[in-house]
Amino acid sequence: MRSFEYARPETEGEALELLSEHGGNTAVLAGGTDLMNLLKRDVIQPDRVVDIKNVSSWRGIKRHEDGVLIGANVTLDEINEHAISADYRSLIDVIDGIRAIQITAHGTVAGDLCQLPHCWYFRNGYGLLAMKDGESLVATGDNRYHAILGNSGPAKFVSASRFAPPAIAWDAKVRIVTRRPANVEHVSNVLPANAKKTEHVENVLHEEWLPLEYFFLTPKTNGQGVTVLKPGQVITHLWLPAASDTRSATYEVLELNGLDQPQASAACCLGLDGGIVRHAKIVLGHVAPTPWIAHEAAKWLVGQQLTSDIAETAGRMAVSKATPLSHNDYKVQMAQTAVKRALLKATNQLGEVL
Ligand SMILES: Cc1cc2nc3c(=O)[nH]c(=O)nc-3n(C[C@H](O)[C@H](O)[C@H](O)COP(=O)(O)OP(=O)(O)OC[C@H]3O[C@@H](n4cnc5c(N)ncnc54)[C@H](O)[C@@H]3O)c2cc1C
Repeated sequence: MRSFEYARPETEGEALELLSEHGGNTAVLAGGTDLMNLLKRDVIQPDRVVDIKNVSSWRGIKRHEDGVLIGANVTLDEINEHAISADYRSLIDVIDGIRAIQITAHGTVAGDLCQLPHCWYFRNGYGLLAMKDGESLVATGDNRYHAILGNSGPAKFVSASRFAPPAIAWDAKVRIVTRRPANVEHVSNVLPANAKKTEHVENVLHEEWLPLEYFFLTPKTNGQGVTVLKPGQVITHLWLPAASDTRSATYEVLELNGLDQPQASAACCLGLDGGIVRHAKIVLGHVAPTPWIAHEAAKWLVGQQLTSDIAETAGRMAVSKATPLSHNDYKVQMAQTAVKRALLKATNQLGEVL
């Protein structure tokens, strides 16, 4: 392992200052469950590691009238044990599936959202695009766990976050802050014209609330990352809109009973009126370089009575544009089934089909 400076700030201001120095070649340490491995394997080489666990304003879960504010440092166990767990079932489904107390006790919400891909070529030093001598190692090699959607460009890894699919289905936002206002121009470039964005400059602090669905990026060149975060930027909070009577569920297809990453997952949020779907959002995970929003399937569901057959059709629609690689066409069926089961789980019908 290379040597690096270690810093442990206690306030937001201190943390941002420490992160912006060294030309931004710094890394955020939250629970450390993933970052330590990246450092040990030399996959990332920061000059300074900034341990944010003691930043007290980035801790805690606060309920507001119109939603819930979750600090970046909140652990998965803390979410699970909080009263909000009854309202946001799709988040708890993810925590239930982790089955590793090391991860749930130390892993944080923001650490999950920002974790880097588990692609074995990336983790072995070939970069996010996994190129060697101008060839894609993924396209010609072992691609059984790689992307089946959004994989036409050079990036073929799958997004690692398990919370992102359910959080995006909830229309979550993240608070991103930086000491360098100039960086925010980049963030605004990735937003579609109709996306809501708020920002203000106060001294040198720049704050932005970004809808989580615009947070993830598919890199096209080696210099690009997997999120909009630029050097020195950090997530401080996650905002979930009030649950009201929305129903939600996540269904993950896992191979192991212990430490594992899903091969495919689907999360949904549904508004129902007498069994008829009034609004729907479906997001797939671990099938594309970013969480994958199934817009067409969700739109088609509106106005339907949610039965097993309808859920199955929605699943088929969600993966209809899949372009599997040489060794992963099995994931298409998995993703389709994950959508069907997430929809049935959200409406308490899953037991009837298993
Ligand atoms: C051996 C091993 C097994 C694992 N098994 C599982 C598993 O079974 N299930 C699972 O879901 N995950 C697993 N993971 C992945 C990961 O540990 C968890 O997802 C965890 O939630 C990450 O949270 P953390 O707080 O420990 O993040 P860290 O390891 O501290 O950070 C992860 C990444 O996020 C960045 N980061 C952290 N916080 C912020 C922030 N506030 N703003 C900006 N960037 C930030 C870090 O710089 C780093 O790049 C595993 C990892 C390892 C190494």
